[in-house]
Amino acid sequence: MAVAAVLMLLSATITAQQPNQRAEWNQPQKPFKVFGNSYWVGTRGLGAVLITSDRGHILIDGALPESVPQIRDHVRELGFKLEDIRLLLNSHVHYDHAGGLGELQRLTGARVAASAPAAKVFASGASGPDDPQYGILPPIERLRNVDVVREGQVVKVGALIARPHMTPGHTPGGTSWTWKACEGARCLDVVYADSVTPVAADGFQYTSSPLLKAFDHTFRALETMRCDILLTPHPAFAQVFQKLVAREGGKADAFIDPGACKAYAAAGRQNLAARLAREREGR
Ligand SMILES: [Zn+2]
Repeated sequence: MAVAAVLMLLSATITAQQPNQRAEWNQPQKPFKVFGNSYWVGTRGLGAVLITSDRGHILIDGALPESVPQIRDHVRELGFKLEDIRLLLNSHVHYDHAGGLGELQRLTGARVAASAPAAKVFASGASGPDDPQYGILPPIERLRNVDVVREGQVVKVGALIARPHMTPGHTPGGTSWTWKACEGARCLDVVYADSVTPVAADGFQYTSSPLLKAFDHTFRALETMRCDILLTPHPAFAQVFQKLVAREGGKADAFIDPGACKAYAAAGRQNLAARLAREREGR
């Protein structure tokens, strides 16, 4: 299916570490409302999502360090203030999703909520050998005021409530975030699902890593969570811009697809199976 093809393509691209990859990820994108109080403020290639309220906002993901001027401008362009962002969240600790968080923390003064393994990386600025991409990752800026959250807990800003779902596999601390967004009486479940690509440095084997079992838990979680709107750190994984184009073309509910998380998990499972087959064949 198309999603699997996209995941394959992106894994290959990311592994190749092309020199122009960062610039490509950082292509400009006009910010837009996804649904209700939830907005895309990221770039064309990297997610950053703003959830707003009268008593403060939540921002998920900071993309690359060089994405921050865009994210800052996007928040303002939508009519919101950076200093009203009270909480920063993250999908996973790699430089293309967490690299901008240090500067965003300086701009907003916001606290951070993160899974225990992610908080460890935020404290040191570097991923450990339990990360499949250990050794090939640029460091990230350290963060202050990081609160550890666990499965079943919620994070709150004013009346906003977001739920962390531990979805390890791409990294040990990978986290997906869910919340409700409303337009009038219509409330939908929005999922910002973490990357589920098994991308690894040479020598890393998923077949002998605890992340293999973790991935299974992650796919189950994605398959069973309430999911009306799927967003992802790499927007192509959720066909974010195809949906935006469809909506602009008149399909008002283009972002709403209750099967999106299941399809995302199915593509992830397929992709992981292909990787395991390659590992077993010694390729
Ligand atoms: Zn990553």
